[in-house]
Amino acid sequence: MPTDRPCLLCANTRHRVVFREFEIDIFRCAGCGHVFSAFEGDPNYASYFGDGPIDPGETQFWWNDAHRAMYDAFCARYLAGKTGRLLDVGAGLGYFVQHASRVPGWEAHGSEMSKPAVDFAQKRLGLSTIRAGRLQDAGFAPGSFDAITLWDVVEHLADPAALLTHIRTLLRQNGFLFLHTPNVDVQLVKAKLKRALKGMRPGTHYLEAKDHLHLYSTKTLRRVLIKAGFARVRFVHLPPIQSVAGSRNPLLRFGKNGWSQTSALLDGLTLGAINLDNLFAHASLS
Ligand SMILES: [Zn+2]
Repeated sequence: MPTDRPCLLCANTRHRVVFREFEIDIFRCAGCGHVFSAFEGDPNYASYFGDGPIDPGETQFWWNDAHRAMYDAFCARYLAGKTGRLLDVGAGLGYFVQHASRVPGWEAHGSEMSKPAVDFAQKRLGLSTIRAGRLQDAGFAPGSFDAITLWDVVEHLADPAALLTHIRTLLRQNGFLFLHTPNVDVQLVKAKLKRALKGMRPGTHYLEAKDHLHLYSTKTLRRVLIKAGFARVRFVHLPPIQSVAGSRNPLLRFGKNGWSQTSALLDGLTLGAINLDNLFAHASLS
C-alpha cells in the first residue's frame, strides 16, 4: 500500500517501508525518521468502543485495575497538594477522570468521541463532566485548565497538530499537558522479533497498524509538541499499565515492570540519550 502522503513533521514525501503488518505498510520518513502507518482511518476516531452498550465486566480489568498504578502515580506527582481543573482528552470510559476527581482540590473533566463510552461514564461511574464529540466543539473556555492529559491518544490521531494546537488554547499560562504513548524505538524492535520468532499471526499485537497511525520516539514527539506551540518538553517515568496486551499473567507483569524500571535507570544514567520506556511527556506553554 504505497502512499505519497507528506511527513507530518517535515513534509518530506520520501520514505521507506520498515515493517509490513499484513497488508499495511509502516514507513519511516527519509527526512526526519518519523514512523507512520499507511492506513487511513476515521480522522475523528469515534468508533473505538463500538456502537452498542459497553459491558462493565469486560472493561474493568484493563481500563481500571491495570491502569491504576499509572494513574495513582500521576495524581501523586502532579495533582496532590495543589488545586485546579483537569481535562482528560480521549477520556474513554472515564476511569482516569474518576481517579483525578477524587484528588482533593481538583475538578476533573473529560472529552471523548465515543458516545457509548460517554454513556458508560455517566451511567456506570456517575460522571457528568465528560462531553461527547470533538474537543474543538466541546465549548470549554480558553485558558480554563491547569492540566490536560492524553492517555494513549496521540498515536491514534491522523492530524495531531489540530488537536494539540487547540489544547494549548485551553491551558492556563502555567498549566501543562501530559501525554502517554508507545515508544516506536522499542515497539518496532519488538514487532520485528515477534515476526521473526512466530511469523505473522492474526490476533497478535505487532504495531497495531490500523489503530496507531503515528508512532513516536522522544525526538519526534518532542518535535510535534514544539510545532504545536508547546515548550519545555520533558520525558518522565511512571509505572506502566499492569498487563501485557490484556493478560493477567503475573510473570508478564513482573517482566514489564522490570523493563520499565531498568529503562528509567538507563534514561537517568545517559541523561536522556537512551529512553526505552513508554513515552510519558510533560510539556508546558513557556
Ligand atoms: Zn519527516
